[in-house]
Amino acid sequence: MTHTGRPSADEAARLLRAGLFIGGDWVDRTAGGEYAHHDQTTGRLQQVVPLGTADDVDHAVRDARAAFRTWGTLGPDRRRTMLLKLADLLREHADEMATIATLENAVPSAFSGLLAGYGPADWFTYYAGWADKIEGTSLRPLGYGGFDYTVPEPFGVIAVVIPWNGPVTTLGMKVAPALAAGNCVVLKPSEFAPFTTLRFAELAIEAGFPPGVINVVVGGADAGDALVRHPGIDKISFTGGTATGQKILATAAQNVVPTVMELGGKAANVVFPDVTLAAVIPQAVITSAMLSGQFCACPSRLLVHTDIYDEAVAMAEATAQCIALGDPFDSETMVGPMINAAHRERVEAIIERARAEGNGRLLYGGSRPDANPDGFFLTPTVFADVDHSSPLAQEEIFGPVLSITRFRDDDHAVKLANGTRYGLVSYVWTNDLTRAHEMAAQLRSGTVSINAMMGFLTPNTPYGGVGASGFGREGGHEGLKEFLRTKNVYIGPQ
Ligand code: NAD
Repeated sequence: MTHTGRPSADEAARLLRAGLFIGGDWVDRTAGGEYAHHDQTTGRLQQVVPLGTADDVDHAVRDARAAFRTWGTLGPDRRRTMLLKLADLLREHADEMATIATLENAVPSAFSGLLAGYGPADWFTYYAGWADKIEGTSLRPLGYGGFDYTVPEPFGVIAVVIPWNGPVTTLGMKVAPALAAGNCVVLKPSEFAPFTTLRFAELAIEAGFPPGVINVVVGGADAGDALVRHPGIDKISFTGGTATGQKILATAAQNVVPTVMELGGKAANVVFPDVTLAAVIPQAVITSAMLSGQFCACPSRLLVHTDIYDEAVAMAEATAQCIALGDPFDSETMVGPMINAAHRERVEAIIERARAEGNGRLLYGGSRPDANPDGFFLTPTVFADVDHSSPLAQEEIFGPVLSITRFRDDDHAVKLANGTRYGLVSYVWTNDLTRAHEMAAQLRSGTVSINAMMGFLTPNTPYGGVGASGFGREGGHEGLKEFLRTKNVYIGPQ
C-alpha cells in the first residue's frame, strides 16, 4: 500500500481496527462503553472505539506478569533479534502506519511517515543494539573483604500511558528500551488515537514476541488510573499533560512505584540580532503551527531582540498568512485540523480571553476557516507584543498559537526563556559561538537546540524535561537505564 491520498471509507474502516489487544489476541467486547471517533477533516463518525475497564486492565497485567517469567530471562540475543524483526516490519508497513496515523489524529501526510512509520522503526533498531550490551560491574568492597558484583535487572511489568498526539513515536521512545531491557508492557493509548498502537501490537506478534509481552488496553482516564494503581505494575512510564502527570504521581506515591514523567512544554525560541532573519522567522512560525501546535516541543514563545523585533513581527505575520491549512492527506498541507471539537474549543477560548483582556496584538488567525466548516480546523494564530506574565505566554496551549515578546539583552532573554514553570526544550538562534554556549548553560530545559528547529529528538539522544515538564529521559543509554534497576550481590570472604 502506498501512502498517497485519502483512503476510501471502506479502506479506512479496515485500517481503523478497534478493540483491546491482550495476551496476543483481540478483545472486542468490553463493559467500559465506547468513544465515537470522528474524522477530524470532515467531522463525520469514523469508528466506534470500545473502552477498557479495570477488569480488562487486570487481565492485561496478569498476562504481562505471566509472560515476564520467560521474557525477563530470555537470552539477550533473542530479544535483540525480535526487536530487529519488529523494526523491519514497521519499515515494511510504514505507509500503512502513516495512513492510520493520519486517520487517527490528522497528522499531515507530510510528517506521518517520520512520526508513525520509518521514524519509530529507527528507535527499535537502535534499542535492539542495546539488548545484548547490558552489563553490570564487579568490585572488591571496602572494609570486609569478599567480592561484589552488580546485575542490571528489568523491573517486570511497565505501565505505559501515552497521549494522542504522537503515539507511535512515543512507543519507540518507551517500548523499545523497556523490551530491550527485558520488561513486559501494558500500553494505555488515548481513546482519541488508539489505532496505530493496536496495529503495532499486532505487528509485534508477527515479529515473534510471545503473547503477553505487549498488551494494549484502550481507554480514557479511568482505564489509565486503573492501570497505574494496579498492584502488578512495577514502574510507570507516562507521557501526557502536567496535570495528569501530577495525578499519576500521587497514585504512584501510594504504591511506591517509580515513574518516568514526560509532561507538557512551553518552549522558548530565542532569536538574537546577529542572524539572517529570513532564514529563521519563517521556519520558527511554521514549526509553531506544525501538527496544529499539538506537540510538546512546540516553539510557542518567540522571543526576539528589540533591534530586529519589528522586522521579525512583520515576517511572522506574512509567514502565518502563507501556511497551507487543509486536508492532512493532501501532500501540500502543512497544518491539518485539530484532534477533536472539544480541544479546538478549549484553544479558541484561550485566544478569545487574550483578545478580551487586550493581551497582545493579534496579527493573524484565531478563526475557523470558511473553506472547511465541518472539520476541526483553526487558522495558525500569531500574537505580537505579548505580556510575558500572561496565560498566553505562561500556559501550554497545545494549539497553533504563537506569542511574540521582545527582549533587551542576553540576561533579559534568559530571564524570559526560563520564566515559565515548564522546561522541556529551548531554541536559540545566534551566530555567536560564545553566546550560544552561554545560553546552553543558562537555559533551564532538558534540551537546548541551537540554530535548529529539528534534529534533537533521535533514538540516541536523551530527551526529557525539568520542572513542570517532568523528569526521566528517553533516548540513548539514559533511556535504556530508566527500565533497569541494579541488584547488588555480595559474596563474603571464603
Ligand atoms: P493527557 O494528560 O490528557 O492524557 C495522556 C494519557 O493519560 C491519555 O492516555 C489519558 O487517557 C491518560 N490519563 C488521563 N487521566 C489519567 C489518570 N488520572 N490516570 C492515568 N492516566 C490518565 O494528555 P493528552 O491530551 O493526551 O496529550 C497532550 C499532552 O501530552 C500535552 O501536555 C503535551 O505536552 C504532552 N506530551 C508530552 C510529551 C513529552 O515528551 N514531554 C510528548 C507528547 C505529548
